[in-house]
Amino acid sequence: MPDDWVYVHDKNVKMGRFQVYNNWSPYLVKDIEHTVWIGLEYFCNEGDELWSMSDDDFGKLGIGEMVRMKLIDSENDVLDYHVEKVKKAYPAYFDTYEHMDALREYLNTIPNLYCIGRNGQHRYNNIDHSMCTAFETVKNILSGTSSKDNIWNVNTEKEYHESK
Ligand SMILES: Cc1cc2nc3c(=O)[nH]c(=O)nc-3n(C[C@H](O)[C@H](O)[C@H](O)COP(=O)(O)OP(=O)(O)OC[C@H]3O[C@@H](n4cnc5c(N)ncnc54)[C@H](O)[C@@H]3O)c2cc1C
Repeated sequence: MPDDWVYVHDKNVKMGRFQVYNNWSPYLVKDIEHTVWIGLEYFCNEGDELWSMSDDDFGKLGIGEMVRMKLIDSENDVLDYHVEKVKKAYPAYFDTYEHMDALREYLNTIPNLYCIGRNGQHRYNNIDHSMCTAFETVKNILSGTSSKDNIWNVNTEKEYHESK
């Protein structure tokens, strides 16, 4: 398939999304002609049923779901797998998030501090947005602009960017 990533909406599986790394870059895969590197993503919370699964059980779950979804013919097609659990992977928009503006105002008083990227802005930025915050910062430094509004304004427009 030509896609880089595909969201999975089938309620019969727990998988939330899969990635075909071959399509991101041929340099990511050693034998691009004969092998596929697939990343499966499962969205969960620290301590819940998925999070608490052993790596072996998680591997079995992922491989089983790939077979059921006909992404692969059989579990024998899998050469290797690795499970990575990432804590606090997504920026949370609750608790003290409503005070973001006050924090931003305070941070803006430090002239040479630039909040960029996903964690730098604690915002659900994708890779493109994250890079744009860096581009805007470089522009400001080169032009001697003191306002940081253009940096904070990345990814505030309503339209979504994920289109071909
Ligand atoms: C599960 C998941 C799936 C995603 N899927 C997509 C996707 O499909 N498409 C997309 O466009 N975006 C996706 N994103 C978002 C994308 O990953 C981020 O927007 C992007 O990586 C943010 O770039 P960044 O440079 O801000 O931060 P990061 O890529 O997180 O880089 C920050 C770096 O700083 C390092 N670091 C942290 N603290 C220190 C320290 N004290 N000293 C030195 N180094 C430090 C970290 O180790 C890390 O390498 C996803 C994110 C997650 C979590």
